[in-house]
Amino acid sequence: MKREVFYPPVGIAHIINKLSDLILYKYKGQKKIIINTSAQPNSSPHLGTITTLMTAFALASKIRDDLKVETVVQFDELENSPAETIDYDGEIYYKDQRHSFYNQKSKEEINMKSFKKILKQLSVFSNVPYVIRSYNEFQSNEYVRQTLINIINDKEYFKKLLFPSASDLHIRTICPTCGLGKKTIKKIEEKHNTNEMILKGFCPIHGSYEVKVTKNNTEYVDINTQFRDLTKGVAMLEEDKKSNTLTIMLDGGDWSGIWAQRVHTEGLVKLGYTEFPIRFFAPVILDWSGAKFSKSLYLKNEAYKDINSAFINYDNFIEYYGEKGMDRLWNEVKSWIDDPKKFFRDYSVDYFQMIMEEKNHE
Ligand SMILES: [Zn+2]
Repeated sequence: MKREVFYPPVGIAHIINKLSDLILYKYKGQKKIIINTSAQPNSSPHLGTITTLMTAFALASKIRDDLKVETVVQFDELENSPAETIDYDGEIYYKDQRHSFYNQKSKEEINMKSFKKILKQLSVFSNVPYVIRSYNEFQSNEYVRQTLINIINDKEYFKKLLFPSASDLHIRTICPTCGLGKKTIKKIEEKHNTNEMILKGFCPIHGSYEVKVTKNNTEYVDINTQFRDLTKGVAMLEEDKKSNTLTIMLDGGDWSGIWAQRVHTEGLVKLGYTEFPIRFFAPVILDWSGAKFSKSLYLKNEAYKDINSAFINYDNFIEYYGEKGMDRLWNEVKSWIDDPKKFFRDYSVDYFQMIMEEKNHE
């Protein structure tokens, strides 16, 4: 049954005619506009991850057409996300996607397959090129590293800002030999001055080790979401200045609001910045109760058993709806970008069920 969908005019949608109007104040003829988005390759992506990726490409294509400027999508692959946990004498360790293997293949390699397929396809749909940046590449960025050092030199403030409920800052180290890292950190062991930070770690197999972070070295350091969000902001602003580009961050809508203000903007202010990156947030996919549609909850929870399994991962989606399904989903997401009141809102799983089924029978 076709139900009527309403688009109440809310917030920022009131004051703009098109999304690209929101970037005019920072667009001064830079040679390229970069739309940055990120995801953890911890499985074949579900509907929400796919629509966020689509949003990045649709936005890049719309901005290119509206402002007549070259655009590119930069995909930050978070292969540092935990892939498995291992218990050693009651202490929990983890291995990330790159260091965790299945049939001699890293989980990163396995899970990135569907991401790469999707990115390639969206690039064709939108005629926008893309680049993949690994976390390893990101952490070796000089601005990311210097910012980490600056943060640790103002530890007391940033502990309260970024880790309001924790006893210390969390910066993870993983064993340089095997990649094992401690899952929970109560207190980081480190030494620092204004030019470097030395983190101490312990591997149950290879013993004690140290990781040195300076602006220009690349020794691997694993940082969590708060640090990543903030250091990414700094790196974007600095790289944009250097390369005459304008980078826009595009994340899922669950990162908007207090997170964006506190962790990102207030963090940047404390680090001395008075200009901030432009951020857009993709609509969130919600379950019937208004909760963010979560694959891990789905897999654990009986209550989700009625949700279309095509929405759980890309492989199911393709199996059920085929390539045509991707085309339909893309047209739906593109329509959000064309109309601010369709973009600044969320959508339920039921809504997607309706549009996919209705179109399926056309
Ligand atoms: Zn080790």
